Amino acid sequence: MRPHQLFALLCALAVGGFAVARGAAQPARTPYSPIASMVDAVNADRLQGTIDALVAFGTRNDFSEQSSTARHGVFAARDWIAAQLRRIAAGADGRMTVALDTYLQPKTRRTPRAVLESSVIATLRGDSPGRIYVMSSHFDDCDGDCTDGAGVAPGADDNGSGVAAVLEAARVMSATHFRGTIVFACFDGEELGLWGSSHFARGLAAAGRPVLAVLNNDIIGNSLGGDGASEPNMIRVFSQALPLHADFARVNLVGSENDSQSRELSRFIAETVPLYLPDFGVRQIFRADRFLRGGDQESFQDAGYSAAIRFVEPHENFTHQHQNVRVQDGVQYGDLPQYIDRAYLRRATQANVAALATLALGPAPPSAVQMVLKRLGYDSTLRWRAAPDAVSYEIVWRSTDAPQWQQVRNVGDVAQATVPVSKDDYVLAVRSVDSNGLRSPAVYPVAVRE
Ligand SMILES: [Zn+2]
Repeated sequence: MRPHQLFALLCALAVGGFAVARGAAQPARTPYSPIASMVDAVNADRLQGTIDALVAFGTRNDFSEQSSTARHGVFAARDWIAAQLRRIAAGADGRMTVALDTYLQPKTRRTPRAVLESSVIATLRGDSPGRIYVMSSHFDDCDGDCTDGAGVAPGADDNGSGVAAVLEAARVMSATHFRGTIVFACFDGEELGLWGSSHFARGLAAAGRPVLAVLNNDIIGNSLGGDGASEPNMIRVFSQALPLHADFARVNLVGSENDSQSRELSRFIAETVPLYLPDFGVRQIFRADRFLRGGDQESFQDAGYSAAIRFVEPHENFTHQHQNVRVQDGVQYGDLPQYIDRAYLRRATQANVAALATLALGPAPPSAVQMVLKRLGYDSTLRWRAAPDAVSYEIVWRSTDAPQWQQVRNVGDVAQATVPVSKDDYVLAVRSVDSNGLRSPAVYPVAVRE
């Protein structure tokens, strides 16, 4: 064997053989300093201040007072949130607008009457009209009875924490010019049926708006579970397996059940967050949401935007969720602000900023990604349509039983490449790389027979 042949063989083994079998890590990456600056700017005092302000409205129940002049109830809280976002928008060179998405929600089986719903939507316009990213939360809340507008419902963690994260992310990101448009959403009407998010997501879908990712935040402010478990260095990301109308026969045929757009978004977040928060990690939960629970990410999935995930704290305390404020048998019930861990909430918010900023500043993902099948073989050929902001592309792959990408090869600025990896034994995908070294989420290929 000649030297160059030996070299080629060793390269092939390193990429396609031994290294893959050992699950060698992807090469280390460095943080992008503009994103690191935004992440660092997240402020725990401001997060706490938002929660305290929201709790001070007494209740944000959907059936509470709806006068705009009131200092109590759901619409007083809505107006306060809108005012905060307008203040942020005033410093964004006209690129940020704030609007209310208001409509009359008809009576349902669970509710006594029709009720006005009004979500607060801030839009930070990016340079590329074809890419929208949503960071969301809900500001309505619920104590023991979700239709009791007269009770006390502090809603500090559920979901004052999510609203605080959205407002703080909007503040630290508003001065930056992004490629993608970012929607900072505080939805109304989550507790009784995901009403506000459903109305908004259906509106986006009807207008044909391209939503590439949704990061929903619901219950992200507490690090101590009701069972005593504590993991202050971890956040959960829930992602659904497949959209409702997936082609299940084809999914079974090619084994793509773990590669929905939600899962690729989850993997992207799990890779991106530790780059900016080295002591904070993402626990990927391959499940749409917790048992008996749901969240606003589902509204986007139902509207056809399948890349939608939910952030939620690692260990919840159920005595502090959906409970009337009371002391019973020496136990304090209720979603009270003293149970917020502001240092944890800061890191949860920073995780959002790291992921969202990378999505919106980074390159668009490649489109029309295909796995080209011409004949039986030992390698894998992928083809894609170029993304306008990309300077090169990476093919990533992992074992079929591995949760996260294990290997990567930069194939340069091309639209087709072959890697010496068996498509029968590994899952492969393609992602864009831009001139700042930022990566898009990976795109799973459609298998095409030629
Ligand atoms: Zn909630």
